[in-house]
Amino acid sequence: MALTGITTVLLDLDGVLYVDEDPIPGALEAVEELRGRGLQLRFVTNTTSRSRAQVAARLARLGFTLPADSVLTPAALAVRHCGARGHRRVRFLVAPALREDLAGLAEAPAGEQPDAIILGDLGEGFTYHALNNAFRAMEAGAELVALQRNRFWRRSDGLAMDVGAYVAALEYATGMEATVVGKPEPAFFAAALADAHGDSAHAVMVGDDIEADVGGAQAAGIHGVLVRTGKFREGAAARSGVVPTATIDSIADLPALLDG
Ligand SMILES: [Mg+2]
Repeated sequence: MALTGITTVLLDLDGVLYVDEDPIPGALEAVEELRGRGLQLRFVTNTTSRSRAQVAARLARLGFTLPADSVLTPAALAVRHCGARGHRRVRFLVAPALREDLAGLAEAPAGEQPDAIILGDLGEGFTYHALNNAFRAMEAGAELVALQRNRFWRRSDGLAMDVGAYVAALEYATGMEATVVGKPEPAFFAAALADAHGDSAHAVMVGDDIEADVGGAQAAGIHGVLVRTGKFREGAAARSGVVPTATIDSIADLPALLDG
């Protein structure tokens, strides 16, 4: 099959273009081919352990030539959300590197109740102490703003639990629901489309996460293509109940899928 009439291509990064420092074979050539056809490309990532600039720098190091502002992360949407909700002071539960992308938010002084908790990837910093402090702040009225809620991701040493598991823990303890700003939120996809001046009917999202990438895109009216690289697992895809528009072995097969 082929997907025709596509003008905008949204690409997940981790597990689609690379795993750690290793590019997926054929990824560089596929991106160049799509760009050469005049398609609008945007790189839409839920990565919250690195800043947008660091993500762009890694792409450049791996050989991908693209404008830094074509990388879109959830941090900007978190800033926008807190502004809209009138949050004045927030508590950051994010990697230090991410703080530069959240410069639009003011940190609550130690000991002061925040209006919101900004939750990203803390890695080894996900301690009982850190989570319990977030729990207490939520009990006192803070909104939990999660940059993403992915279940797991793929590192070079194997699968790894992602932010979603900690979001679920805090939701369970408080009985409250988090606000998620990254994929699979339709607002994130809408922001990416607006940035590319594209429309959903002529756009495709390509990812290795059946729920956040494929299911999220489809909920926003965008074609969702699943790749069998990165965190892809046949079982997880089947369990999700999400049916991709197409499934391809890797991004190397994307140009052929979009032919015509
Ligand atoms: Mg991915």
